[in-house]
Amino acid sequence: MPQQNKFHFASDNCSGICPEAWEYLERANHGYASGYGDDEWTLKASDRIREIFETDCSVFFCFTGTAANSMSIGHLCNSYHSVLCHRYAHVETDECGGPEFFTHGTKVLLIEGPGGKMSAEGIQEMVDRRTDIHYPKPRVVSLTQSTELGTVYKLDDLQQIKEVCTKNDLRIHMDGARFANAVASLDVSPKEVTWHAGIDVLCFGATKDGMPLGEAVVFFDKQLAQEFDYRCKQAGQLASKMRFIAAPLYGMLENDTWLKNGRHANQCAKRLAAGISEVEGCTIRHPVEANAVFADLPRPIEESLLAKGWHFYSFIGEGGSRFMCSWNTSHDDIKLLHEDLIESSPIS
Ligand SMILES: *Cc1c(COP(=O)(O)O)cnc(C)c1O
Repeated sequence: MPQQNKFHFASDNCSGICPEAWEYLERANHGYASGYGDDEWTLKASDRIREIFETDCSVFFCFTGTAANSMSIGHLCNSYHSVLCHRYAHVETDECGGPEFFTHGTKVLLIEGPGGKMSAEGIQEMVDRRTDIHYPKPRVVSLTQSTELGTVYKLDDLQQIKEVCTKNDLRIHMDGARFANAVASLDVSPKEVTWHAGIDVLCFGATKDGMPLGEAVVFFDKQLAQEFDYRCKQAGQLASKMRFIAAPLYGMLENDTWLKNGRHANQCAKRLAAGISEVEGCTIRHPVEANAVFADLPRPIEESLLAKGWHFYSFIGEGGSRFMCSWNTSHDDIKLLHEDLIESSPIS
C-alpha cells in the first residue's frame, strides 16, 4: 500500500491514534461507568492536567478544537467586545465564524506579524487604533502556540505580550491545538508558557498529537470558568460517554507521551526541512520550530510530487507548500519524500 503511505504530510490529523491512547481507550471499555464526566477516567485526566501545569486549574473536555476555541472565547467576551489575533489564526481563517457565533457578535481584529506571530507592539497599536464608544472594546488576545506557520512564541515574546495585556486589561486565550509541539520545542515546563506567562485559558489540543478526538479547555483563572459547564452542554460538547475522551487522553498524559509525540514530530520536521533545502531551487519559507515545514518549491517539482501521490497543502498562510509531521511520521517516509524530490528536480 505505498500510495496510502504518501498521504500523510497533508496534516497531522491524517495520522491515526497513538498506541498509548489506544491502549487506554481499550482499558476504559470494560463494564459500566457514569456518564457526562462523572467517572474515574475524567477525574484522573483532569488531575493529571493539574499536575502537569502545577496548579489548581479548571478542566473541561470537548470534541473539537473549533469548539474549544469558540466556547472559551465566547466565555471571555460580551457581544460588544473584540478579540485580537493574528491574521492567519485558525480562529479567523478556519472556524467558519465560530468565535463570532458563540459570542453573538464579538469582532475579530486582525494583526499582522512575521511568521504567524503577533508582537506586543502590534497588539498595542490595534488597541490604540480606536478607543471610542463607537468601536468594539478589545477584551481578549488569542495567540496560537505553536502557530499556524510552524513557529513558536518564545518566553520573551510571551512576557512582552503579557505586559501589554495587563496594561490594557486584556485576557489571554491560547489556541494550543499544537501545544505539545511548542512545549517540546521550547523545552520548558508547561506552566512557564501558560499561567506564568499570563495565559487565562488554554485550549489544550490532543487530536493532532495522537488522540482519536478530544481537546481539553483549561482555565488557569478559575473565576473565568464559572458556568462553563453549562456552555459546553448547550453547545452539544458535553460527551455522555466522556470516559472515551478522558481515558485515551490520560494514556497520553500519564508518562508524558504527549510530549514525546510532539518532540518526535518536531524532529521529523527538522529532518524534512534539511532534506528539502538540499534540493536545487527549493527553499524553506518560515523557521521550522515545531512540526510544520513550509517550503517554496519550483512549480515543476511541486507538480511532480503531486503526480507521484504525495499529499500536502499549498493554501495555508502566505502560501508555499506545507508538510506536516506527526507522532506517526517515520524516517522512511521522509527519506521517500526526499528521494522523490530529488528525482523531480530538473537538475537530476
Ligand atoms: C487543527 C487546529 C484547530 C482545531 O481544529 P478542529 O478541526 O476544529 O479540531 C485549532 N487551531 C489550530 C491552529 C489548528 O491547527
